[in-house]
Amino acid sequence: SSALAVKAADIIARLMQQGIMATANQVIASDVAELVAVEFETELEIERRSSVEEEIRKEFESRERGNLTRRPVVVAMLGHVDHGKTSLLDKVRSTQVAAGEAGGITQHIGASQVTWNNKTVTFLDTPGHEAFTAMRARGANMTDIVVLVVAADDGVMPQTIEAIAHSKAAGVAIVVALNKIDLPGCDINRIYAQLAEHELTPAEWGGQTEVVKTSASTGQGIEDLLEALDYTAELMDLKADDGVPATGWVVEAKMSPQQGPVATVLIKEGQLTKGDVVLAGDTYGRVKMMKNSYGKKIKIATSSMPVEISGLNGVPQAGDRFYCLDDVNRAKDAAEEGRLRAREKSLAARTQVTMDNLFSQIEAGNVKDLNLIVRADVQGSVDVLKKYLSELSVDEIRINILQAMPGGITEGDVLLAEASNAIIIGFNVVADERAAKTAEAEGVDIRLYSVIYRITEDLKKSMVGMLEPEE
Ligand code: GDP
Repeated sequence: SSALAVKAADIIARLMQQGIMATANQVIASDVAELVAVEFETELEIERRSSVEEEIRKEFESRERGNLTRRPVVVAMLGHVDHGKTSLLDKVRSTQVAAGEAGGITQHIGASQVTWNNKTVTFLDTPGHEAFTAMRARGANMTDIVVLVVAADDGVMPQTIEAIAHSKAAGVAIVVALNKIDLPGCDINRIYAQLAEHELTPAEWGGQTEVVKTSASTGQGIEDLLEALDYTAELMDLKADDGVPATGWVVEAKMSPQQGPVATVLIKEGQLTKGDVVLAGDTYGRVKMMKNSYGKKIKIATSSMPVEISGLNGVPQAGDRFYCLDDVNRAKDAAEEGRLRAREKSLAARTQVTMDNLFSQIEAGNVKDLNLIVRADVQGSVDVLKKYLSELSVDEIRINILQAMPGGITEGDVLLAEASNAIIIGFNVVADERAAKTAEAEGVDIRLYSVIYRITEDLKKSMVGMLEPEE
């Protein structure tokens, strides 16, 4: 307030317009401060001291890497409920156990690795696009390929379309598993046409998408699926150095009564050895015990491997970054500082794009594409909205419709909006309770309408900063 020579109350009023309820002594995020300054026609120079974790991250990102070899591909299963994601994953793992290569029962640690014919694939165990996008919202882009599971007796369904949108927003490759192929009377051509409609034209039809016919019941096509994943991965040229200290993400973590905090980490790149010092989110420690997804104790783990480790001083969060460091004091400093900053951050509001702040976000250069998620009562309205909304694109800002579907607004939509900085537009629909709660907590803007021209009017106004703030 004193730097801008503007009354604190005026700044608070501006913040409220942006949907940020601040008090006079509250910490606000620097990008929020920048936005407010723009509104008072002042430019801020932001000076930031980087955190220890940021320094570490930079060091890891810029380090010399030498001996690059192919790393296993990391895969997530998405698709409509009951189309067989869990069953397929189970079948893949039991096929491998039957092949006797690892010779053990898979433990549930949040991710698993299967090897056959000297080819290795890492599967993330938590199916569904909500989990997938929640991780991505935290910056954890673990997945190389999404296996889109589509039941052959049911075809492309609403959650299939959502899964496609989430995969595309993440920019990952999609391989389709046409599952339940053992069931009689499946109309495969109909499903191919549906896939083609969503820009997933099957290779069999001359397109780019690998479609593998599978059955989690009979085991048909399981090896073909692994082959297709390996083939797709080959094209992606996934390389890593297994000699550098490991870094990656926490997949899941819990408190174990016997072992204390245990965390499953997925190694993005490098080597993790028993006894190494690890920083994971706001926790740190020495790796006391390390197990692979078959529950076998191991001493060394490398790129794309999921391992369960114990020895951390607390329970990190899924999606946290981890680093293998050589200095335990540095790990401790980073963890402690992280805890302090987390407290600050929970006080500081972040800026998710909303209709009210859109114009100032455009002006501040924070937004160039306006991402929208559209929900409407019927397919007809969805089509009309898609057309009208796309036509609103102007030079300064391009309208990008991430997903447009019939049906009520779900928590998945909100997570996608959060991860992709999008606004949700609902036409003749409402948000379910969980969606509304999450949106509120994350500052995701949901706009509900019952007249189409109102939507385009409001958007046009908001793009030029003329929209009256919503009560
Ligand atoms: P998810 O919700 O996608 O994880 O689906 P599930 O793996 O739980 O499977 C839903 C139902 O479909 C279960 O009753 C499975 O036994 C059945 N199912 C899964 N895959 C197949 C398949 O390939 N063939 C047949 N006939 N049934 C399957």
